[in-house]
Amino acid sequence: MQLDQVISQFKEEGFRVTYFDTSEEAVAYLCTENEGKTIGFGGSVTLEETGLFDALSKENTVFWHWKQPSKEARDHAANAEVYITSANAVSQTGEIVNIDGTGNRVAAINYGHEKVYVIIGINKIEDTLEQAIWRARNIAAPLNARRLHTKTPCAMGEEVRCYDCKSPERICRGFSIINRKMSGNQEMELVLIDEALGY
Ligand code: SF4
Repeated sequence: MQLDQVISQFKEEGFRVTYFDTSEEAVAYLCTENEGKTIGFGGSVTLEETGLFDALSKENTVFWHWKQPSKEARDHAANAEVYITSANAVSQTGEIVNIDGTGNRVAAINYGHEKVYVIIGINKIEDTLEQAIWRARNIAAPLNARRLHTKTPCAMGEEVRCYDCKSPERICRGFSIINRKMSGNQEMELVLIDEALGY
Protein backbone atom coordinates (compact mmCIF):
# COMPACT_ATOMS: atom_id res chain seq x y z
CA MET A 1 0.00 0.00 0.00
CA GLN A 2 1.34 3.40 -1.03
CA LEU A 3 -0.03 6.07 1.29
CA ASP A 4 0.98 8.96 -0.97
CA GLN A 5 -0.90 7.25 -3.82
CA VAL A 6 -4.03 6.95 -1.65
CA ILE A 7 -3.84 10.62 -0.71
CA SER A 8 -3.31 11.91 -4.24
CA GLN A 9 -6.01 9.63 -5.69
CA PHE A 10 -8.68 10.80 -3.24
CA LYS A 11 -7.67 14.45 -3.73
CA GLU A 12 -8.05 14.00 -7.48
CA GLU A 13 -11.60 12.73 -6.85
CA GLY A 14 -12.60 15.89 -5.00
CA PHE A 15 -12.02 14.82 -1.41
CA ARG A 16 -10.06 16.77 1.14
CA VAL A 17 -7.52 14.41 2.74
CA THR A 18 -5.80 14.81 6.09
CA TYR A 19 -3.31 12.47 7.73
CA PHE A 20 -2.44 12.03 11.42
CA ASP A 21 0.09 9.86 13.22
CA THR A 22 -2.27 9.22 16.13
CA SER A 23 -6.00 9.20 16.85
CA GLU A 24 -5.43 11.77 19.62
CA GLU A 25 -4.17 14.25 17.01
CA ALA A 26 -7.11 13.49 14.72
CA VAL A 27 -9.61 13.97 17.56
CA ALA A 28 -8.07 17.34 18.48
CA TYR A 29 -8.24 18.42 14.83
CA LEU A 30 -11.89 17.37 14.45
CA CYS A 31 -12.85 19.20 17.65
CA THR A 32 -11.21 22.42 16.41
CA GLU A 33 -12.78 22.17 12.95
CA ASN A 34 -16.33 21.52 14.16
CA GLU A 35 -16.98 23.74 17.16
CA GLY A 36 -20.67 24.60 17.57
CA LYS A 37 -21.95 22.20 14.90
CA THR A 38 -24.68 19.59 14.98
CA ILE A 39 -22.94 16.31 14.28
CA GLY A 40 -24.25 12.84 13.40
CA PHE A 41 -22.25 9.65 13.89
CA GLY A 42 -22.47 6.41 11.97
CA GLY A 43 -22.15 3.09 13.81
CA SER A 44 -18.42 2.54 14.01
CA VAL A 45 -15.96 0.72 16.23
CA THR A 46 -13.29 3.09 14.89
CA LEU A 47 -15.18 6.10 16.29
CA GLU A 48 -15.70 4.28 19.59
CA GLU A 49 -11.98 3.51 19.87
CA THR A 50 -10.91 7.10 19.22
CA GLY A 51 -13.10 8.60 21.98
CA LEU A 52 -14.36 11.16 19.47
CA PHE A 53 -17.96 11.18 20.74
CA ASP A 54 -17.01 12.34 24.24
CA ALA A 55 -14.52 14.90 22.92
CA LEU A 56 -16.94 16.46 20.44
CA SER A 57 -19.86 16.40 22.88
CA LYS A 58 -18.16 19.07 25.00
CA GLU A 59 -18.77 21.83 22.41
CA ASN A 60 -21.33 20.31 20.05
CA THR A 61 -24.65 18.54 19.80
CA VAL A 62 -23.75 15.02 18.75
CA PHE A 63 -26.25 12.34 17.72
CA TRP A 64 -25.16 8.72 17.94
CA HIS A 65 -27.47 5.74 18.11
CA TRP A 66 -24.80 3.78 20.03
CA LYS A 67 -25.19 6.22 22.94
CA GLN A 68 -28.77 7.48 22.59
CA PRO A 69 -32.24 6.07 21.75
CA SER A 70 -31.51 4.64 18.34
CA LYS A 71 -34.36 5.67 16.04
CA GLU A 72 -34.34 9.29 17.20
CA ALA A 73 -30.54 9.51 17.11
CA ARG A 74 -30.36 8.06 13.58
CA ASP A 75 -32.98 10.54 12.35
CA HIS A 76 -31.19 13.52 13.89
CA ALA A 77 -27.83 12.28 12.59
CA ALA A 78 -29.24 12.14 9.06
CA ASN A 79 -30.14 15.83 9.29
CA ALA A 80 -27.04 17.07 11.15
CA GLU A 81 -24.74 19.68 9.62
CA VAL A 82 -21.77 17.33 9.85
CA TYR A 83 -21.69 13.54 9.54
CA ILE A 84 -18.78 11.44 10.79
CA THR A 85 -18.31 7.77 10.10
CA SER A 86 -15.68 5.21 9.25
CA ALA A 87 -15.84 2.77 6.34
CA ASN A 88 -15.34 -0.95 6.01
CA ALA A 89 -12.49 -0.39 3.60
CA VAL A 90 -10.94 2.11 1.21
CA SER A 91 -8.80 1.30 -1.80
CA GLN A 92 -5.59 2.79 -3.09
CA THR A 93 -7.51 3.32 -6.33
CA GLY A 94 -9.85 5.74 -4.58
CA GLU A 95 -13.03 3.94 -3.51
CA ILE A 96 -14.80 4.02 -0.13
CA VAL A 97 -16.64 0.75 0.59
CA ASN A 98 -19.36 0.18 3.17
CA ILE A 99 -21.81 -2.62 3.91
CA ASP A 100 -24.92 -1.73 5.87
CA GLY A 101 -27.88 -3.53 7.36
CA THR A 102 -30.11 -0.75 8.66
CA GLY A 103 -29.13 1.70 5.93
CA ASN A 104 -28.59 4.81 8.02
CA ARG A 105 -24.85 4.87 7.44
CA VAL A 106 -24.88 4.38 3.68
CA ALA A 107 -27.71 6.89 3.37
CA ALA A 108 -26.06 9.58 5.48
CA ILE A 109 -22.57 9.25 4.01
CA ASN A 110 -23.96 9.86 0.54
CA TYR A 111 -26.18 12.91 0.92
CA GLY A 112 -27.23 16.01 2.72
CA HIS A 113 -24.42 17.43 4.86
CA GLU A 114 -22.19 20.48 4.97
CA LYS A 115 -19.37 18.08 5.60
CA VAL A 116 -18.83 14.34 5.79
CA TYR A 117 -15.71 12.95 7.45
CA VAL A 118 -14.61 9.35 6.83
CA ILE A 119 -12.17 8.25 9.53
CA ILE A 120 -9.82 5.47 8.43
CA GLY A 121 -7.12 3.54 10.25
CA ILE A 122 -4.36 2.24 7.99
CA ASN A 123 -5.54 -1.36 8.54
CA LYS A 124 -8.52 -0.61 6.26
CA ILE A 125 -6.60 0.49 3.18
CA GLU A 126 -6.46 -2.10 0.39
CA ASP A 127 -4.67 -1.99 -2.95
CA THR A 128 -7.72 -2.49 -5.21
CA LEU A 129 -11.51 -2.13 -5.17
CA GLU A 130 -11.87 -5.93 -5.32
CA GLN A 131 -9.70 -6.34 -2.23
CA ALA A 132 -11.64 -3.59 -0.45
CA ILE A 133 -14.93 -5.35 -1.17
CA TRP A 134 -13.43 -8.65 -0.03
CA ARG A 135 -12.31 -6.98 3.20
CA ALA A 136 -15.75 -5.47 3.83
CA ARG A 137 -17.45 -8.84 3.27
CA ASN A 138 -14.98 -11.20 4.94
CA ILE A 139 -13.41 -9.20 7.74
CA ALA A 140 -15.52 -6.17 8.68
CA ALA A 141 -18.97 -7.74 8.39
CA PRO A 142 -18.21 -11.03 10.23
CA LEU A 143 -16.44 -9.20 13.06
CA ASN A 144 -19.39 -6.83 13.36
CA ALA A 145 -21.75 -9.83 13.41
CA ARG A 146 -19.69 -11.32 16.25
CA ARG A 147 -19.84 -8.02 18.14
CA LEU A 148 -23.62 -8.03 17.74
CA HIS A 149 -23.95 -11.77 18.58
CA THR A 150 -26.13 -12.39 15.54
CA LYS A 151 -27.30 -15.91 14.78
CA THR A 152 -25.42 -16.00 11.49
CA PRO A 153 -22.75 -18.50 10.36
CA CYS A 154 -20.07 -15.80 10.32
CA ALA A 155 -20.73 -15.07 13.99
CA MET A 156 -21.19 -18.66 15.15
CA GLY A 157 -18.64 -20.53 12.99
CA GLU A 158 -14.96 -20.84 13.81
CA GLU A 159 -13.73 -19.33 10.58
CA VAL A 160 -14.02 -15.57 10.24
CA ARG A 161 -15.47 -15.12 6.76
CA CYS A 162 -18.72 -14.41 4.97
CA TYR A 163 -20.97 -17.41 4.21
CA ASP A 164 -23.42 -15.32 2.13
CA CYS A 165 -26.10 -16.44 4.54
CA LYS A 166 -29.89 -16.34 4.19
CA SER A 167 -30.35 -15.67 7.88
CA PRO A 168 -33.13 -13.31 8.99
CA GLU A 169 -30.42 -11.73 11.15
CA ARG A 170 -28.15 -11.09 8.16
CA ILE A 171 -26.44 -7.72 8.72
CA CYS A 172 -25.27 -7.29 5.11
CA ARG A 173 -28.13 -5.84 3.10
CA GLY A 174 -26.60 -3.17 0.92
CA PHE A 175 -23.27 -1.97 -0.42
CA SER A 176 -22.11 1.61 -0.92
CA ILE A 177 -19.11 2.27 -3.14
CA ILE A 178 -18.18 5.94 -3.46
CA ASN A 179 -15.61 6.85 -6.09
CA ARG A 180 -15.98 10.65 -6.29
CA LYS A 181 -16.98 13.26 -3.72
CA MET A 182 -20.78 13.05 -3.74
CA SER A 183 -22.29 16.29 -5.03
CA GLY A 184 -25.08 16.07 -2.43
CA ASN A 185 -22.52 16.78 0.30
CA GLN A 186 -20.81 20.17 0.27
CA GLU A 187 -17.48 18.70 1.38
CA MET A 188 -16.12 15.22 2.08
CA GLU A 189 -12.88 14.56 3.90
CA LEU A 190 -10.89 11.39 4.33
CA VAL A 191 -9.12 11.44 7.71
CA LEU A 192 -6.29 8.89 7.62
CA ILE A 193 -4.76 7.77 10.92
CA ASP A 194 -1.56 5.75 11.15
CA GLU A 195 -3.06 3.23 13.59
CA ALA A 196 -5.08 0.03 13.33
CA LEU A 197 -8.63 1.10 14.18
CA GLY A 198 -11.94 -0.75 14.10
CA TYR A 199 -12.63 -3.74 11.90
S1 SF4 B 1 -23.91 -12.12 4.56
FE1 SF4 B 1 -24.38 -13.31 6.42
S2 SF4 B 1 -22.59 -14.66 6.66
FE2 SF4 B 1 -21.96 -13.01 5.30
S3 SF4 B 1 -21.01 -11.52 6.65
FE3 SF4 B 1 -23.14 -10.90 6.32
S4 SF4 B 1 -24.26 -11.78 8.05
FE4 SF4 B 1 -22.28 -12.82 7.93
